[in-house]
Amino acid sequence: MTTGAFDGIVVGAGHNGLTLAAYMVLAGQRPLVLERNKWIGGGCTTEEPVVPGFRFNLHSNFYIGLDNAPFVRDLELWRFGFSYVEPPVQQGATFRDGTCIVIHKDVERTCASLARFSRHDADAFRHLHTTWTESMRPLFTSLLYNAPLPPAELRARLGGPQGADLLSHAPLSLFEAVDRHFEDHRVKSFLKLFMHVTTAENEPGTGLLFASTMANITRLALPIGGSSALPQALARLVEAGGGHVETGAEVREIRVKGGRAVGVELADGRRFAARRFVASAIDAPATMRLCGESAFSDEIRAKLNAWYWGSHSLLTIHLALSEPPMYGSAKFDPDIERAFNLFMGWDDTAQVIRCFDQCRRGELPDHLMGNGACNTRFDPSYAPAGKHAAFWWPFAPYALPDGPEGWDRRRKEYTAQLLDVWRQYAPNLTDGNVLGAYLFTPLDIERRNRNMVRGAARMGAYVPSQLGINRPHPLLASYRSPIEGLYLCGSSNHGGGVNGAPGYNAANAIVDDFRLSRPWTPIDPPSWAG
Ligand SMILES: Cc1cc2nc3c(=O)[nH]c(=O)nc-3n(C[C@H](O)[C@H](O)[C@H](O)COP(=O)(O)OP(=O)(O)OC[C@H]3O[C@@H](n4cnc5c(N)ncnc54)[C@H](O)[C@@H]3O)c2cc1C
Repeated sequence: MTTGAFDGIVVGAGHNGLTLAAYMVLAGQRPLVLERNKWIGGGCTTEEPVVPGFRFNLHSNFYIGLDNAPFVRDLELWRFGFSYVEPPVQQGATFRDGTCIVIHKDVERTCASLARFSRHDADAFRHLHTTWTESMRPLFTSLLYNAPLPPAELRARLGGPQGADLLSHAPLSLFEAVDRHFEDHRVKSFLKLFMHVTTAENEPGTGLLFASTMANITRLALPIGGSSALPQALARLVEAGGGHVETGAEVREIRVKGGRAVGVELADGRRFAARRFVASAIDAPATMRLCGESAFSDEIRAKLNAWYWGSHSLLTIHLALSEPPMYGSAKFDPDIERAFNLFMGWDDTAQVIRCFDQCRRGELPDHLMGNGACNTRFDPSYAPAGKHAAFWWPFAPYALPDGPEGWDRRRKEYTAQLLDVWRQYAPNLTDGNVLGAYLFTPLDIERRNRNMVRGAARMGAYVPSQLGINRPHPLLASYRSPIEGLYLCGSSNHGGGVNGAPGYNAANAIVDDFRLSRPWTPIDPPSWAG
C-alpha cells in the first residue's frame, strides 16, 4: 500500500530505477518506485506469448559484464533470487558458405577459430583480449560506473602507452577501428555488424565504443529463468527494506516548487511527496516534459527536443521448438551449436553497410542480419522439459514506407520471411519442428515501453553528440539536473544496456549530495598509469 512518507520517488521500474531504489534502501532511505505498466522490468521482461511454458525475453537477453558489475555484488542479488550463467562459447558468426567464427571464453580456442580465416586476426584478437578484456578491465569498469568525464580530464587520467593507444581510438568510426586491427573480410564484417548491437552508429568519434565492446566480447551472461529475474530480485530487495514498488502508476507530472523537485502527480490524480529526491529512470526528453520545459535552460531544451533516437531498431522472431536449431556450419566447427550469441544473415561488409543504409531510409533490408540465441541450450527452464526456445533479431527500421503500422499489416508475411532466412542456416527449422512463432516488431517495442521511442533499444542512439559527457547533455551528465533534488537515472544517461550503471551512478550522486550513509565501496574514478 502506498501510504506514509517517502524519502525519494523513482519514476519507472526498469532495472535502473530499481537499482537506484535498492541502493537507497541500503543507504537507509525509504523509496517509492512508480511504474506505468502493470508489470515491472521495462526492457527486462520475460513472457510466454506463443505456447505456454516457452519463455521469451522480449527485449534484453545478453547481460554484459555482470562479473564486474558492482550492483550484483553490493546488493547481494543472489539472496533475492537472481542468478546467471556465462556460456563457455560466447559468440558465433555463421556464414552462408558453411564456414563460421566462434568466440570462446577461452582465448586460445577463439584464436584457433580466427586463425582458420587469418593468423594475423587471431594474433590481433589475442592482443586486444589481453590488453582490454584482462589488464585494462578495471579501467573499463570505472569508466562505466562513474559519471562521464570531459575529454580533457579523461586524457589527463589515462597515461602510459596503453592509455594513449586506447584514446587514439576516440576519433575513429566503428568501422575504422575494426579495420585498424583486423584484415580478413569475414572477421571484419562480423565485428562491424557486432559493433551495431549497442545501437551505436558508424560515425567518426564512436571509436571508443569499439574498445569497450571488444573488452566485453567474452563477458555475456544469460539470466536464469528469464531477464525479468533481475528486476524482480531488485524489487524484492526494495520491498524487504521498507520501500515500495507500485505498478499501474503513470507519472504525469514531476512537481517542482521554488526550483526544487518535491513530488509527483499520477495520471489518475494521486499525488506523492518526496522528502529528499525524485529520480527519473525514464528518458531525459520525457523527464523534461514531466517537469515542464521552462524549468530547463534553452540549450538543454533545444538538445532534448532534438534527441536522436537512432536509425535502426530490432525485429524479433521468437520460436517454440521441438529441437534446437542445428546449423549447417557445424560441419566446419561443431562449437557453433554451443554459441550463446549467434549472428547470421550477411556475406560481406557491403551488405552490412547496405542494411543500415536501408534502415535509415525506412526500408526493410534486403539482407536481414542480426543476432539471436537458443536460451534452452544454457538454461532448460526457458521451455517445457525437452523442448527449446530460440529467437533471432535482425536489424530493422522503426517505420516502413507505409509507416510503423506497416508492421501490423504484414506480420504473417515477415514471420515467414525471417523463418526462411533462418532456415538457410539451420535447415532443421522445419514446419514440424516449429511449434509456434511470435513476431515482436519495432512498433511493439515502443508500444510496450514508452521510453523506447521509435523502437530505440537504449533510449537514444550512440552517436558522438549523445555519448560520454554529451549524454544526454553536459549539464545533465552527472545524473543531477538544474532542478534541485531531481536526478536522472535512465539509459539516456551514460550507461545503457543492462548493467545498472545509470542507477548506480545516480545513487552515488544522491548519497554524496545528502551525505547519506554509504555501506558499499564506490568504484574508483577512472585512471590508468600504464
Ligand atoms: C529488442 C531489444 C533487445 C535488447 N537486448 C539487449 C541485450 O541483449 N542486452 C542489453 O544489455 N540490453 C538490451 N536491450 C536494451 C535494454 O533493454 C535497455 O537498455 C534497458 O532495459 C534499459 O533499462 P532502464 O532501466 O534504463 O529503462 P527501461 O527498462 O526502459 O525502464 C523504464 C521504465 O519506466 C517506465 N515508465 C515510462 N514512463 C513512465 C511514467 N511516465 N511513469 C511511470 N513509469 C514510466 C517504463 O514503462 C519502463 O518500465 C535491448 C532492447 C530491446 C528493445
